Amino acid sequence: MSSDKQRPEWVPEGADEKTFTTHVMGGVDGGHDGMPGQSVGNPHVRTRLKKRPRLSASDYIDGIRNQNRTILARAITLIESNAPAHQDLAREVLAALLPDAGQSVRVGITGVPGVGKSTFIEAFGMELCERGKHVAVLAVDPTSTVSGGSVLGDKTRMEKLSRCPEAFIRPSPAGGTLGGVARKSRETLMLCEAAGFDTILVETVGVGQSEVTVRHMVDFFLLLMLAGQGDELQGIKKGVIELADAIFVNKADGDNIPRAKAKRSELHSVMRFLQPATPGWKPIAGTCSAHTGEGVDDVWNTVERFVTTTQESGSFSRRRQKQEIEWMHTLIEEGLKAHFFAHPLVKQRLPEMEASIREGKATVAGSVEALLSEYTGQ
Ligand code: GDP
Repeated sequence: MSSDKQRPEWVPEGADEKTFTTHVMGGVDGGHDGMPGQSVGNPHVRTRLKKRPRLSASDYIDGIRNQNRTILARAITLIESNAPAHQDLAREVLAALLPDAGQSVRVGITGVPGVGKSTFIEAFGMELCERGKHVAVLAVDPTSTVSGGSVLGDKTRMEKLSRCPEAFIRPSPAGGTLGGVARKSRETLMLCEAAGFDTILVETVGVGQSEVTVRHMVDFFLLLMLAGQGDELQGIKKGVIELADAIFVNKADGDNIPRAKAKRSELHSVMRFLQPATPGWKPIAGTCSAHTGEGVDDVWNTVERFVTTTQESGSFSRRRQKQEIEWMHTLIEEGLKAHFFAHPLVKQRLPEMEASIREGKATVAGSVEALLSEYTGQ
């Protein structure tokens, strides 16, 4: 993999690098970096920005297959675009690359803000790079905005990893809804796999249902926790523990080591009574320190053991297939919903229906029934 830019290439008018922390990975319709494969110009010289040529579907497909990061980044931007022309092109690129995807280990990582996710992912990612892995780090954060003001948007903390030529870090798409972010992240994950990344880390913070969403797109799910605080204090939602294939107590360093070990034992006893998240795999409780690096390799050893065990039992591929089918249903539901609410008949009838219901002139069930009949033409 060729190394790409490491500093923000572009900041909005009136912002500076500190407040706009997201690396801007090239636009889809003209932008400012060079031709594919060329290095990016000086980020501070905005006046030299020049328009980039558009890429065709085969430019994207060939570029990604050739592990060209600039093109990968532009393809992700294409996926994240809401413009219909971009979406058509993105679909074509994704369909062509489907056979190249799927060859990675997908690891989801969650934990409350402050637990050390960024620090851990940096240490973990570096460890994986040292082991010869190609690591892509993605984030799923439904609160993310274009200005990078989100909890997971600030990836400047992963400075060392972002300098590693074998790693690729992409902030959460600014999708608004969790569904929108999830679609874009799934497709980004596929593109990263097609570009040769063999380990995909998907980071999320527990906003809404984001842990569940990420659980549905990864093979292995890691929960990071802290010692010395009740689970309620850590904002761990009921059920998140049940999603995890491993729980590691982070910050197991210095004076905190005994507390971390006690927490691990406590988790170990609790987890014995829980239904495992993955059939045939007993969830693991461990300790690690993202600062000292102690235990970070245990996490990877656990992932490797998990992959071997579940591939042998068949539950690895069964989960992947199930995830694809669930994803298909999700997209059908989203598509139907979008079509329904955009339909002129529905747009016209809904306010009338709402008024009638408010005034007590119609029942909810009756009104809905009538609208659906009209919509489906029955
Ligand atoms: P995030 O919000 O979950 O991404 O957490 P961060 O990675 O930003 O870490 C939050 C704070 O915890 C930072 O001040 C880190 O330096 C600190 N931190 C992270 N990991 C460790 C660790 O293993 N040990 C100690 N002592 N501090 C840590």
